[in-house]
Amino acid sequence: MSKTVTVLGSTGSIGTQALEVIEMQGYEVKALTASVRVDEIEKQIRKFKPDYAALVDEKAAQELKIRVADTDTKVLSGLQGVCKCASLGADYVLNSIVGMAGLEPTLSAIDAGSEIALANKETLVAGGQLVMKRAKEKGINILPVDSEHSAIFQSMQGCRDKNEIKKLILTASGGPFFGKKRDELANVTVKEALNHPNWSMGAKITIDSATMMNKGLELIEAVWLFSMDPKDIEIVVHRQSVVHSLVEYCDNSVIAQLGVPDMRIPIQYALTYPNRIPSPVSELSLTDYGTLTFDKPDYETFGLINICRKAINDGGLYPACANAANEEANLAFRQGRINFLQIEELVAQAVADAPKVEDYKLDDVLEMYDRARGYVKEKIKG
Ligand code: NAD
Ligand code: MG
Repeated sequence: MSKTVTVLGSTGSIGTQALEVIEMQGYEVKALTASVRVDEIEKQIRKFKPDYAALVDEKAAQELKIRVADTDTKVLSGLQGVCKCASLGADYVLNSIVGMAGLEPTLSAIDAGSEIALANKETLVAGGQLVMKRAKEKGINILPVDSEHSAIFQSMQGCRDKNEIKKLILTASGGPFFGKKRDELANVTVKEALNHPNWSMGAKITIDSATMMNKGLELIEAVWLFSMDPKDIEIVVHRQSVVHSLVEYCDNSVIAQLGVPDMRIPIQYALTYPNRIPSPVSELSLTDYGTLTFDKPDYETFGLINICRKAINDGGLYPACANAANEEANLAFRQGRINFLQIEELVAQAVADAPKVEDYKLDDVLEMYDRARGYVKEKIKG
Protein backbone atom coordinates (compact mmCIF):
# COMPACT_ATOMS: atom_id res chain seq x y z
CA MET A 1 0.00 0.00 0.00
CA SER A 2 1.23 3.50 -0.80
CA LYS A 3 2.49 5.60 2.09
CA THR A 4 0.63 8.75 3.08
CA VAL A 5 2.66 11.85 3.88
CA THR A 6 1.78 15.30 5.19
CA VAL A 7 4.27 18.05 4.42
CA LEU A 8 4.36 21.01 6.80
CA GLY A 9 6.17 23.96 5.23
CA SER A 10 5.62 22.56 1.73
CA THR A 11 6.54 25.76 -0.14
CA GLY A 12 10.03 26.03 1.36
CA SER A 13 13.41 24.70 0.30
CA ILE A 14 13.02 21.37 2.12
CA GLY A 15 9.26 21.21 1.49
CA THR A 16 9.60 21.42 -2.29
CA GLN A 17 12.43 18.86 -2.33
CA ALA A 18 10.31 16.58 -0.13
CA LEU A 19 7.50 16.83 -2.69
CA GLU A 20 9.95 15.84 -5.44
CA VAL A 21 10.84 12.72 -3.45
CA ILE A 22 7.17 12.02 -2.73
CA GLU A 23 6.23 12.38 -6.40
CA MET A 24 9.05 10.12 -7.50
CA GLN A 25 8.10 7.41 -5.00
CA GLY A 26 4.39 7.71 -5.72
CA TYR A 27 3.42 8.42 -2.11
CA GLU A 28 0.03 9.94 -1.39
CA VAL A 29 -0.10 13.48 0.05
CA LYS A 30 -2.54 13.82 2.92
CA ALA A 31 -2.08 17.52 3.69
CA LEU A 32 0.11 20.49 2.81
CA THR A 33 0.75 23.62 4.85
CA ALA A 34 2.63 26.88 4.37
CA SER A 35 2.76 30.40 5.67
CA VAL A 36 1.42 32.81 3.02
CA ARG A 37 2.41 31.80 -0.50
CA VAL A 38 -0.92 31.24 -2.26
CA ASP A 39 0.43 30.70 -5.81
CA GLU A 40 2.90 27.98 -4.81
CA ILE A 41 0.55 26.03 -2.59
CA GLU A 42 -2.25 26.26 -5.17
CA LYS A 43 0.03 24.59 -7.73
CA GLN A 44 0.96 21.93 -5.18
CA ILE A 45 -2.71 21.30 -4.33
CA ARG A 46 -3.58 20.82 -8.01
CA LYS A 47 -0.69 18.43 -8.47
CA PHE A 48 -0.81 16.36 -5.26
CA LYS A 49 -4.57 16.56 -4.46
CA PRO A 50 -4.27 16.54 -0.65
CA ASP A 51 -7.37 16.16 1.56
CA TYR A 52 -6.42 19.31 3.46
CA ALA A 53 -4.23 22.37 3.05
CA ALA A 54 -3.54 25.20 5.47
CA LEU A 55 -2.00 28.64 5.30
CA VAL A 56 -1.01 30.37 8.52
CA ASP A 57 -2.03 33.77 7.19
CA GLU A 58 -5.82 34.15 7.43
CA LYS A 59 -6.19 36.45 4.42
CA ALA A 60 -4.03 34.24 2.23
CA ALA A 61 -6.06 31.21 3.35
CA GLN A 62 -9.31 32.97 2.32
CA GLU A 63 -7.83 33.69 -1.09
CA LEU A 64 -6.65 30.08 -1.43
CA LYS A 65 -10.10 28.77 -0.51
CA ILE A 66 -11.62 30.69 -3.41
CA ARG A 67 -8.86 29.65 -5.81
CA VAL A 68 -9.18 25.91 -5.13
CA ALA A 69 -12.95 25.82 -4.67
CA ASP A 70 -13.14 23.51 -7.71
CA THR A 71 -10.96 20.85 -6.00
CA ASP A 72 -11.72 18.41 -3.14
CA THR A 73 -9.05 19.96 -0.89
CA LYS A 74 -10.38 21.58 2.27
CA VAL A 75 -8.56 24.79 3.17
CA LEU A 76 -7.81 25.71 6.78
CA SER A 77 -6.04 28.68 8.34
CA GLY A 78 -3.87 29.75 11.25
CA LEU A 79 -1.69 27.70 13.55
CA GLN A 80 -4.82 25.72 14.41
CA GLY A 81 -5.24 24.78 10.75
CA VAL A 82 -1.61 23.69 10.51
CA CYS A 83 -2.00 21.57 13.67
CA LYS A 84 -5.17 20.01 12.24
CA CYS A 85 -3.25 19.08 9.07
CA ALA A 86 -0.51 17.60 11.25
CA SER A 87 -3.00 15.50 13.19
CA LEU A 88 -4.73 13.62 10.36
CA GLY A 89 -2.82 10.43 11.10
CA ALA A 90 -0.73 10.28 7.91
CA ASP A 91 1.92 7.56 7.97
CA TYR A 92 4.56 10.32 7.98
CA VAL A 93 4.48 13.98 8.85
CA LEU A 94 7.47 15.72 7.33
CA ASN A 95 8.00 18.93 9.24
CA SER A 96 9.92 21.50 7.22
CA ILE A 97 8.48 24.60 8.88
CA VAL A 98 11.17 27.13 9.76
CA GLY A 99 11.49 28.20 13.39
CA MET A 100 9.74 27.48 16.66
CA ALA A 101 6.39 27.70 14.84
CA GLY A 102 6.98 24.02 14.08
CA LEU A 103 6.80 22.88 17.69
CA GLU A 104 3.05 22.61 18.23
CA PRO A 105 2.40 20.94 14.84
CA THR A 106 5.13 18.39 15.69
CA LEU A 107 3.40 17.59 18.97
CA SER A 108 0.02 17.29 17.17
CA ALA A 109 1.55 14.85 14.69
CA ILE A 110 3.09 12.76 17.47
CA ASP A 111 -0.25 12.65 19.30
CA ALA A 112 -1.89 11.38 16.10
CA GLY A 113 0.67 8.55 15.94
CA SER A 114 2.44 9.60 12.73
CA GLU A 115 6.13 8.95 12.22
CA ILE A 116 7.94 12.29 12.20
CA ALA A 117 10.46 13.17 9.49
CA LEU A 118 11.97 16.22 11.13
CA ALA A 119 13.80 18.99 9.31
CA ASN A 120 12.54 21.66 11.70
CA LYS A 121 15.49 21.62 14.11
CA GLU A 122 14.19 24.56 16.17
CA THR A 123 11.46 22.20 17.43
CA LEU A 124 14.03 20.03 19.19
CA VAL A 125 16.19 22.93 20.32
CA ALA A 126 13.29 24.68 22.02
CA GLY A 127 11.25 21.75 23.25
CA GLY A 128 13.47 18.69 22.89
CA GLN A 129 12.47 17.20 26.22
CA LEU A 130 8.73 17.49 25.45
CA VAL A 131 9.05 16.15 21.92
CA MET A 132 11.24 13.16 22.73
CA LYS A 133 9.18 12.21 25.79
CA ARG A 134 5.92 12.33 23.88
CA ALA A 135 7.38 10.40 20.94
CA LYS A 136 8.62 7.71 23.32
CA GLU A 137 5.23 7.45 25.02
CA LYS A 138 3.54 7.08 21.64
CA GLY A 139 6.19 4.66 20.36
CA ILE A 140 6.90 6.67 17.23
CA ASN A 141 10.20 7.54 15.57
CA ILE A 142 11.63 11.01 15.12
CA LEU A 143 13.52 10.50 11.87
CA PRO A 144 16.13 13.16 11.17
CA VAL A 145 16.05 15.06 7.88
CA ASP A 146 18.87 17.44 8.79
CA SER A 147 21.80 16.07 6.76
CA GLU A 148 24.25 15.77 9.68
CA HIS A 149 21.73 13.99 11.87
CA SER A 150 20.65 11.73 9.06
CA ALA A 151 24.34 10.88 8.56
CA ILE A 152 24.71 10.03 12.24
CA PHE A 153 21.49 8.02 12.18
CA GLN A 154 22.71 6.14 9.09
CA SER A 155 26.12 5.57 10.70
CA MET A 156 24.38 4.05 13.73
CA GLN A 157 22.51 1.41 11.75
CA GLY A 158 23.90 -1.91 12.83
CA CYS A 159 24.90 -0.65 16.26
CA ARG A 160 23.16 -2.95 18.73
CA ASP A 161 24.38 -1.40 21.96
CA LYS A 162 24.30 2.37 22.36
CA ASN A 163 27.03 2.12 25.01
CA GLU A 164 29.43 1.25 22.22
CA ILE A 165 29.13 4.80 20.89
CA LYS A 166 31.87 7.08 22.21
CA LYS A 167 31.15 10.31 20.41
CA LEU A 168 29.46 12.02 17.51
CA ILE A 169 31.37 14.23 15.09
CA LEU A 170 29.20 16.86 13.43
CA THR A 171 30.64 18.37 10.29
CA ALA A 172 30.09 22.05 9.44
CA SER A 173 30.71 23.71 6.09
CA GLY A 174 31.93 26.85 7.85
CA GLY A 175 29.60 28.97 5.71
CA PRO A 176 30.55 31.93 3.51
CA PHE A 177 32.78 33.57 6.14
CA PHE A 178 35.11 30.69 6.94
CA GLY A 179 38.63 32.00 7.59
CA LYS A 180 37.46 35.54 8.38
CA LYS A 181 38.17 37.18 11.72
CA ARG A 182 35.70 39.15 13.84
CA ASP A 183 36.80 42.60 12.66
CA GLU A 184 36.22 41.53 9.05
CA LEU A 185 32.63 40.53 9.84
CA ALA A 186 31.30 43.80 11.25
CA ASN A 187 30.29 45.19 7.88
CA VAL A 188 29.35 42.11 5.87
CA THR A 189 26.14 42.53 3.88
CA VAL A 190 23.02 40.39 3.90
CA LYS A 191 23.79 39.41 0.31
CA GLU A 192 27.26 38.16 1.28
CA ALA A 193 25.84 36.25 4.25
CA LEU A 194 23.22 34.62 2.00
CA ASN A 195 25.88 33.32 -0.38
CA HIS A 196 26.37 29.79 1.02
CA PRO A 197 29.18 27.84 -0.65
CA ASN A 198 27.52 24.39 -0.85
CA TRP A 199 23.80 24.45 -0.11
CA SER A 200 20.83 26.37 -1.47
CA MET A 201 18.48 26.76 1.50
CA GLY A 202 15.87 29.06 3.03
CA ALA A 203 17.05 32.52 4.15
CA LYS A 204 16.94 31.92 7.90
CA ILE A 205 19.09 28.78 7.93
CA THR A 206 21.49 30.34 5.41
CA ILE A 207 22.16 33.20 7.83
CA ASP A 208 22.40 30.66 10.67
CA SER A 209 25.11 28.92 8.63
CA ALA A 210 27.00 32.19 8.16
CA THR A 211 26.97 32.90 11.93
CA MET A 212 27.45 29.15 12.65
CA MET A 213 24.42 29.33 14.95
CA ASN A 214 23.21 26.50 12.74
CA LYS A 215 25.91 24.22 14.18
CA GLY A 216 24.99 25.27 17.71
CA LEU A 217 21.35 24.41 17.00
CA GLU A 218 22.45 21.10 15.47
CA LEU A 219 24.55 20.28 18.52
CA ILE A 220 21.42 20.62 20.67
CA GLU A 221 19.36 18.74 18.08
CA ALA A 222 21.86 15.86 18.29
CA VAL A 223 21.73 15.81 22.10
CA TRP A 224 17.99 15.16 21.95
CA LEU A 225 17.82 12.89 18.93
CA PHE A 226 20.57 10.55 20.08
CA SER A 227 20.43 11.04 23.90
CA MET A 228 24.05 12.18 23.93
CA ASP A 229 25.99 14.17 26.49
CA PRO A 230 26.97 17.49 24.82
CA LYS A 231 30.59 16.88 25.79
CA ASP A 232 30.59 13.81 23.54
CA ILE A 233 29.67 15.82 20.45
CA GLU A 234 32.57 17.31 18.53
CA ILE A 235 32.33 19.83 15.71
CA VAL A 236 34.68 19.78 12.73
CA VAL A 237 34.71 22.21 9.82
CA HIS A 238 34.61 20.33 6.54
CA ARG A 239 34.41 22.77 3.64
CA GLN A 240 33.24 20.38 0.93
CA SER A 241 30.07 19.08 2.71
CA VAL A 242 30.69 15.55 1.46
CA VAL A 243 31.24 13.77 4.79
CA HIS A 244 27.89 14.60 6.36
CA SER A 245 28.84 13.53 9.92
CA LEU A 246 30.48 10.66 11.78
CA VAL A 247 30.08 8.31 14.75
CA GLU A 248 33.09 7.20 16.77
CA TYR A 249 32.75 3.87 18.53
CA CYS A 250 34.46 2.60 21.69
CA ASP A 251 37.13 0.79 19.64
CA ASN A 252 38.00 4.13 17.93
CA SER A 253 36.52 2.93 14.69
CA VAL A 254 34.75 5.86 13.00
CA ILE A 255 31.78 5.36 10.69
CA ALA A 256 30.61 8.18 8.43
CA GLN A 257 28.01 8.79 5.76
CA LEU A 258 29.14 10.50 2.58
CA GLY A 259 27.39 11.82 -0.50
CA VAL A 260 27.10 14.89 -2.68
CA PRO A 261 25.40 17.75 -0.82
CA ASP A 262 21.77 17.13 -1.79
CA MET A 263 18.99 17.13 0.79
CA ARG A 264 16.92 14.64 -1.18
CA ILE A 265 19.03 11.79 0.25
CA PRO A 266 18.26 12.51 3.93
CA ILE A 267 14.66 13.43 3.07
CA GLN A 268 14.18 10.13 1.26
CA TYR A 269 15.93 8.06 3.92
CA ALA A 270 13.63 9.50 6.60
CA LEU A 271 10.64 8.32 4.55
CA THR A 272 12.00 4.90 3.54
CA TYR A 273 13.94 3.91 6.69
CA PRO A 274 14.99 1.17 7.32
CA ASN A 275 15.01 0.54 3.57
CA ARG A 276 16.98 2.24 0.83
CA ILE A 277 15.65 2.81 -2.66
CA PRO A 278 17.19 4.46 -5.75
CA SER A 279 17.19 8.24 -5.79
CA PRO A 280 17.72 10.94 -8.43
CA VAL A 281 20.73 12.31 -6.54
CA SER A 282 24.07 12.23 -8.40
CA GLU A 283 26.69 9.65 -7.51
CA LEU A 284 29.57 10.83 -5.37
CA SER A 285 32.84 10.92 -7.28
CA LEU A 286 35.59 11.15 -4.70
CA THR A 287 38.22 11.69 -7.37
CA ASP A 288 36.31 14.73 -8.70
CA TYR A 289 36.68 16.24 -5.23
CA GLY A 290 40.26 15.02 -4.87
CA THR A 291 40.80 16.62 -1.48
CA LEU A 292 38.57 16.65 1.57
CA THR A 293 39.63 19.05 4.32
CA PHE A 294 38.93 19.16 8.06
CA ASP A 295 39.56 22.15 10.35
CA LYS A 296 38.88 23.15 13.93
CA PRO A 297 36.06 25.70 14.27
CA ASP A 298 37.15 29.26 15.05
CA TYR A 299 35.22 29.69 18.30
CA GLU A 300 36.56 33.23 18.83
CA THR A 301 34.99 34.47 15.62
CA PHE A 302 31.89 32.28 15.66
CA GLY A 303 30.89 32.45 19.31
CA LEU A 304 27.33 31.22 18.85
CA ILE A 305 28.37 27.56 18.86
CA ASN A 306 29.66 27.83 22.41
CA ILE A 307 26.67 29.90 23.51
CA CYS A 308 24.51 26.97 22.39
CA ARG A 309 26.83 24.47 24.06
CA LYS A 310 26.54 26.35 27.34
CA ALA A 311 22.77 26.67 26.93
CA ILE A 312 22.26 22.91 26.59
CA ASN A 313 24.71 22.24 29.43
CA ASP A 314 22.82 24.65 31.68
CA GLY A 315 19.60 22.97 30.52
CA GLY A 316 16.00 23.98 31.15
CA LEU A 317 14.81 26.73 28.85
CA TYR A 318 18.23 28.19 27.98
CA PRO A 319 18.27 26.47 24.57
CA ALA A 320 14.72 27.73 23.91
CA CYS A 321 15.90 31.22 24.83
CA ALA A 322 18.97 31.06 22.57
CA ASN A 323 16.84 29.82 19.70
CA ALA A 324 14.16 32.48 20.09
CA ALA A 325 16.67 35.31 20.50
CA ASN A 326 18.42 34.07 17.38
CA GLU A 327 15.15 33.93 15.40
CA GLU A 328 14.58 37.61 16.18
CA ALA A 329 18.20 38.70 15.63
CA ASN A 330 18.53 36.69 12.41
CA LEU A 331 15.37 38.40 11.08
CA ALA A 332 16.58 41.84 12.18
CA PHE A 333 19.86 41.28 10.32
CA ARG A 334 18.04 40.19 7.16
CA GLN A 335 15.88 43.32 7.42
CA GLY A 336 18.96 45.53 7.75
CA ARG A 337 18.16 46.61 11.32
CA ILE A 338 21.37 45.29 12.92
CA ASN A 339 24.84 44.30 11.74
CA PHE A 340 26.13 40.76 11.50
CA LEU A 341 28.06 40.68 14.79
CA GLN A 342 25.06 41.98 16.70
CA ILE A 343 23.28 38.68 16.10
CA GLU A 344 25.73 36.94 18.42
CA GLU A 345 25.79 39.82 20.93
CA LEU A 346 21.99 39.85 21.22
CA VAL A 347 21.70 36.08 21.66
CA ALA A 348 24.45 36.14 24.30
CA GLN A 349 22.69 38.92 26.23
CA ALA A 350 19.28 37.24 26.04
CA VAL A 351 20.65 33.96 27.40
CA ALA A 352 22.68 35.70 30.13
CA ASP A 353 19.55 37.53 31.33
CA ALA A 354 17.19 34.55 31.13
CA PRO A 355 15.83 32.99 34.32
CA LYS A 356 16.79 29.45 35.28
CA VAL A 357 13.92 27.04 34.72
CA GLU A 358 14.35 23.39 35.63
CA ASP A 359 11.20 21.66 34.53
CA TYR A 360 9.04 22.97 31.76
CA LYS A 361 5.80 22.41 29.93
CA LEU A 362 4.72 23.58 26.49
CA ASP A 363 3.32 26.86 27.86
CA ASP A 364 6.68 27.66 29.48
CA VAL A 365 8.49 27.10 26.18
CA LEU A 366 6.03 29.37 24.37
CA GLU A 367 6.35 32.00 27.09
CA MET A 368 10.15 31.90 26.86
CA TYR A 369 9.89 32.26 23.09
CA ASP A 370 7.87 35.47 23.38
CA ARG A 371 10.06 36.74 26.19
CA ALA A 372 13.36 36.22 24.37
CA ARG A 373 12.09 37.66 21.08
CA GLY A 374 10.67 40.64 22.98
CA TYR A 375 13.97 41.08 24.82
CA VAL A 376 15.92 41.23 21.55
CA LYS A 377 13.37 43.61 19.97
CA GLU A 378 13.69 45.99 22.92
CA LYS A 379 17.51 45.87 22.82
CA ILE A 380 17.49 46.70 19.12
CA LYS A 381 15.14 49.65 19.70
CA GLY A 382 17.66 50.81 22.32
P1 NAD B 1 12.16 27.91 4.03
O1 NAD B 1 12.14 29.28 4.57
O2 NAD B 1 12.62 27.69 2.63
O3 NAD B 1 10.71 27.26 4.17
C1 NAD B 1 9.98 27.33 5.36
C2 NAD B 1 8.57 26.79 5.19
O4 NAD B 1 7.88 27.00 6.43
C3 NAD B 1 7.75 27.50 4.11
O5 NAD B 1 6.89 26.57 3.50
C4 NAD B 1 6.92 28.50 4.91
O6 NAD B 1 5.69 28.81 4.29
C5 NAD B 1 6.69 27.77 6.20
N1 NAD B 1 6.54 28.69 7.35
C6 NAD B 1 7.26 29.83 7.60
N2 NAD B 1 6.84 30.40 8.74
C7 NAD B 1 5.85 29.61 9.22
C8 NAD B 1 5.03 29.68 10.38
N3 NAD B 1 5.12 30.69 11.26
N4 NAD B 1 4.13 28.70 10.58
C9 NAD B 1 4.00 27.68 9.70
N5 NAD B 1 4.74 27.58 8.58
C10 NAD B 1 5.66 28.53 8.34
O7 NAD B 1 13.05 27.05 5.04
P2 NAD B 1 13.91 25.73 4.75
O8 NAD B 1 15.28 26.11 4.34
O9 NAD B 1 13.12 24.78 3.93
O10 NAD B 1 14.07 25.16 6.23
C11 NAD B 1 12.99 24.53 6.91
C12 NAD B 1 13.51 23.85 8.18
O11 NAD B 1 14.42 22.82 7.80
C13 NAD B 1 14.31 24.79 9.09
O12 NAD B 1 14.10 24.42 10.42
C14 NAD B 1 15.76 24.50 8.71
O13 NAD B 1 16.66 24.76 9.76
C15 NAD B 1 15.69 23.02 8.39
N6 NAD B 1 16.73 22.55 7.46
C16 NAD B 1 16.78 23.06 6.20
C17 NAD B 1 17.76 22.62 5.31
C18 NAD B 1 17.81 23.11 3.89
O14 NAD B 1 18.60 22.60 3.10
N7 NAD B 1 17.01 24.09 3.50
C19 NAD B 1 18.69 21.66 5.73
C20 NAD B 1 18.59 21.16 7.03
C21 NAD B 1 17.60 21.60 7.87
MG1 MG C 1 22.33 20.52 8.79
